[in-house]
Amino acid sequence: MSTVESPVTIAITRLALGPTAPGASPLLTRIGEVVAQMGPAPWSKRIIADERNLVTLIASPPGGGNRPHWHREFDEWWVVLGGRLQWELTGGVVVNAAKDDIVWVPRGTVHHIRNVGDDLSLRLAVAMPPAWHIYHPCEQCGFADDGPREWCA
Ligand SMILES: [Zn+2]
Repeated sequence: MSTVESPVTIAITRLALGPTAPGASPLLTRIGEVVAQMGPAPWSKRIIADERNLVTLIASPPGGGNRPHWHREFDEWWVVLGGRLQWELTGGVVVNAAKDDIVWVPRGTVHHIRNVGDDLSLRLAVAMPPAWHIYHPCEQCGFADDGPREWCA
């Protein structure tokens, strides 16, 4: 399935009609508890998902990283919570980031993210549904794989 031709429409199907007590979803996530629960990297854990947000905690071991890809319909951003990470981007741009840094990448830009440090890296990724990923070789390091070419988070 491809979404190349169609714009993305967000449907907000659940509206609050007034002040509402929170439901069963966790109101507080402690990063340390998630790390202990998930075990050895690599792993990812969805923290928040609604009509507008897909927030995922991602752990990569030294040398680990993502499959380079780009997004049609949203800009993506991350908060680095631990380790040292490098973003290789379309056009020869390289962004190096460490704990407490925020990285923003516009739609259409291939992002190849790698843990370039000696410790576990943690990053909180903020994407927007449906969050189609279009995989593409990294133009900088040439990384490519033969996995699926598209994937919907
Ligand atoms: Zn992405």
